Amino acid sequence: MIPKRIKDLSPYKTETTSCKVRLSSNELPIRFPEEVKKRIGEVVSSIPFNRYPDPYSAELKEIIALRFGVSPNNLILGNGSDELIQYLSISIGEFDRGVIYPIPTFPMYGICASVLGREKIEVPLQEDFDLNLDAFINSIREKNPAIAFFSYPNNPTGNCFSEEKIRRIREEKVFTVLDEAYYHFSGKTFLKDALSREDTVVLRTLSKIGLAGLRIGVLIAKEDIAMEINKVRLPFNITYPSQAIAKVMLAEFYFLIEEHIRMVIRERERVMKELSKLEGVKVYPSDANFFLFSTPYPADLVHKELIKEGVLVRDVSYLPGLRGCLRVSLGFPEENDAFLEALIKVLKRLC
Ligand SMILES: *Cc1c(COP(=O)(O)O)cnc(C)c1O
Repeated sequence: MIPKRIKDLSPYKTETTSCKVRLSSNELPIRFPEEVKKRIGEVVSSIPFNRYPDPYSAELKEIIALRFGVSPNNLILGNGSDELIQYLSISIGEFDRGVIYPIPTFPMYGICASVLGREKIEVPLQEDFDLNLDAFINSIREKNPAIAFFSYPNNPTGNCFSEEKIRRIREEKVFTVLDEAYYHFSGKTFLKDALSREDTVVLRTLSKIGLAGLRIGVLIAKEDIAMEINKVRLPFNITYPSQAIAKVMLAEFYFLIEEHIRMVIRERERVMKELSKLEGVKVYPSDANFFLFSTPYPADLVHKELIKEGVLVRDVSYLPGLRGCLRVSLGFPEENDAFLEALIKVLKRLC
């Protein structure tokens, strides 16, 4: 009864190791002040949760539209942008046409394609982690995929791909998704294209700006495209508490979020500079709230030793082209210092 395309899947795994300093999931370091907690408490306790939530998330869309500088009619909200990746994988092109994306990248593009039985066309990145334009164009001409996914900046490499190359690839007539989960740390966007073209959409999320637990992703598209994709959305995909809390956070406490985004950007510069002073350590450029680095030692070993020091980062060294690499998210200054100290200790121990 269960088809091969499902049997061949493995369940999605995330890092659950408990550690004092967790720098493994690209979450925003923020501690909500008592004043915020009190306000959220009031709002949540007044939810009539015997009722279904607003199926259109209209008020939440209103405030997100305001914050992102678009109109509510350009938006579809998802239970995380993961859900929106699924909606796009369902609604763009017939299933006998595949999905193309560079690797290594965010795993959800491939997972959604596999679930639907769509062909996955994976094009390795260049050594500098930019797109291999010729390989991309050749693959498109040969395999005729319907959708291209670009994580922009790319998770896990941290860089934004060349804008020029993305535009050139799009000319091959492939529907282009810019997953801008880390937009607030890169400042680079294809928003204008998403608002004016039928072949381009942008994905954003509230997960990387302090609200990961609420599960709210945002798809931005031209109104008629948004209207079509909205037809596959499950009716009550954003829960009552998520709508209520997100509304308050974006309407009343957005300055706190912005403050912490600025802190992360400052820390990115400081920590990467400190780290690159260490002998044998290579640090890769980043437009995100995380970055890659490598050491002369096996990455799984460094990863394990860092856990012993109470610091959790992500081992990405098993991915194509990332031998020796670990991914670390920026935390509070004191967490980043703990990471630097732990790494110095570990490197001394291993040499
Ligand atoms: C974290 C991440 C997401 C997931 O976002 P959710 O809104 O939490 O589902 C999407 N895309 C990329 C590239 C990410 O790194």
